[in-house]
Amino acid sequence: MALLQISEPGLSTAPHEHRLAVGIDLGTTNSLVATVRNGIGVVLNDSNGRALLPSVVRYFADGGVQVGETAQAMQSEDPSNTIVSVKRFMGRGLNDVGDISGTPYRFVDAPSPIATSRGSGQAPGMVQLRTAAGVKSPVEVSSEILKVLRARAGEALGGELVGAVITVPAYFDDAQRQATKDAARLAGINVLRLLNEPTAAAIAYGLDNAVEGVYAVYDLGGGTFDISILKLSKGVFEVLATNGNSALGGDDFDHRIYCWLLEKNGLSALGASDTRRLLTRARAAKEELTEHDETRVTAILQSGEAIESVLSQQDFHAMSQNLVERTLQPVRRALRDAGLSVADIKGVVMVGGATRMPQVQRAVAEFFHQTPLTNLDPDKVVALGAAIQANVLAGNRSSDDWLLLDVIPLSLGIETMGGLAEKIIPRNSTIPTARAQDFTTFKDGQTAMSVHVVQGEREMVSDCRSLARFELRGIPPMVAGAARIRITFQVDADGLLNVSAREQGSGTEAHITVKPSYGLSDDEIARMLQESSRHAQGDMQARALREQQVEANQLLDAVQNALDLDGAALLDEAGQARIRAGMDGLRAVLQTGDIHAVKRAITQLNDATVAFAQARMDKSVSRALGGRKLTDLEV
Ligand code: ADP
Ligand code: MG
Repeated sequence: MALLQISEPGLSTAPHEHRLAVGIDLGTTNSLVATVRNGIGVVLNDSNGRALLPSVVRYFADGGVQVGETAQAMQSEDPSNTIVSVKRFMGRGLNDVGDISGTPYRFVDAPSPIATSRGSGQAPGMVQLRTAAGVKSPVEVSSEILKVLRARAGEALGGELVGAVITVPAYFDDAQRQATKDAARLAGINVLRLLNEPTAAAIAYGLDNAVEGVYAVYDLGGGTFDISILKLSKGVFEVLATNGNSALGGDDFDHRIYCWLLEKNGLSALGASDTRRLLTRARAAKEELTEHDETRVTAILQSGEAIESVLSQQDFHAMSQNLVERTLQPVRRALRDAGLSVADIKGVVMVGGATRMPQVQRAVAEFFHQTPLTNLDPDKVVALGAAIQANVLAGNRSSDDWLLLDVIPLSLGIETMGGLAEKIIPRNSTIPTARAQDFTTFKDGQTAMSVHVVQGEREMVSDCRSLARFELRGIPPMVAGAARIRITFQVDADGLLNVSAREQGSGTEAHITVKPSYGLSDDEIARMLQESSRHAQGDMQARALREQQVEANQLLDAVQNALDLDGAALLDEAGQARIRAGMDGLRAVLQTGDIHAVKRAITQLNDATVAFAQARMDKSVSRALGGRKLTDLEV
């Protein structure tokens, strides 16, 4: 089935040769690499036996780079050169990154060299970071993490890698996915496919347990929360809906402990390095409280002051309870989007290190009325699923091939007359997918059409995100509405979009691969979704008004044309004046925003032109019939 068809071209396999492929979880907080050995998924450790590589990169003035634990350890000492959570910046412009006042980085809003060298033209550029080793883009920073994982795989497997499956959050847009692929390419990794993280987790569980049904994947990582609703049946994985909160994760639990420490020890504003030190202690305390009833937190501040506090599991749960509850809001929204209720969920997969916390597991169990699946390590499950997928794509499995479906996070469509967004591929459609819709010209003799590709849920283009524009030229001149232009949207397995427009009569065609500007944030996706539901009512009204306005303008154009051609010949002064008055009346109400007045004025103008239209009809028919009147004919 389709899964084998989307593997890299030219990679046909000899029957007994095992091709080395890995799965990589490129996480916000931690990254991992895994592979399949003797049919079993295994995470590859570093030489110290550690599986998790902290996603932290430190740059030095001599151009040197440190990645992982060593870099993380220096975070408070050298904050501006030590980049953490770079995943948040992937494929985003400075405007999308949000509030940067709390970060220690020196941001530069320059176009990414990668984005420009590809010639994506319109790209406003990914945000960049000024470090001791020069200006670095998030793509370059991520590639340093990937290089370490690639080297780890090379050592562990002792052979040439065919390629890797790299996971991304389900809500990642084109720009973020493209940035991830670019990072892999920079690291010298052949990307077999990008795979959504929840889908990877489902693969890890689905194949082990082989159970059919609808599942929820609850992923609480270091700084992000994602919920996905997946359907598994007959080996087919389908993502029904996704939701989440990009500013909620294990770090927030650390922060609660940090605030408690400040209060407990009567501390107020601390310097950056003390803050980081205490946050590191808070994280250790949190992880400790997953296994123990209480923990002792000690630290020595820069002033020399020593602090020591004991925190009980009970107090920790109390101070973090509302964080746990905040994860349930997106869960409800995802269920609603999927049209499902809690009772429809057959199992809940726990993903992300923060789901180890007992209070999280308890809340999830209560919400779904069932014990969540935790038998795989929550911070390894994504990498394991990716490894299984990579193994299939590399051609190491041939008998039980299965199809894999992912989902589009925001609707894709084009702009139509009046600035309205016409959705062609609705949100949460599974990919790969292709859909076509026919459009037509607005004016008589129109020979070109401007196609504006937009993304978002709102009715008005101005409220959606502009992805690309291109023109279809060489449409044969026809009356308005006669041309048939088929616009086809195709989204490939990696979630990248291709749009084509074809005039059906002449075969004239134009197309564009949307290499979108880097920069739509997941916050922005969340915001756009929220706004679309908040504004749904207003949008419908705005759309209805806009449609009336478009109709009114068309009518005014047509009547004016007719008056210019035949007004003097077929109408007396009074007749012409009556029609002009109708036109003036319509123009007067057109911009008032009063849809009923516009409708009334359209009807009035239509009424005023009935006799004129009949006279014109008679005239053209009699011309065609050589002087006889329509009423003279026997029908
Ligand atoms: P990401 O997907 O963001 O890269 P991970 O899945 O690796 O993140 O999760 C990292 C988070 O998990 C951190 O906040 C870390 O403190 C937390 N975490 C890891 N182990 C535990 C534990 N035993 N108890 C509580 N939290 C944990
Ligand atoms: Mg993760």
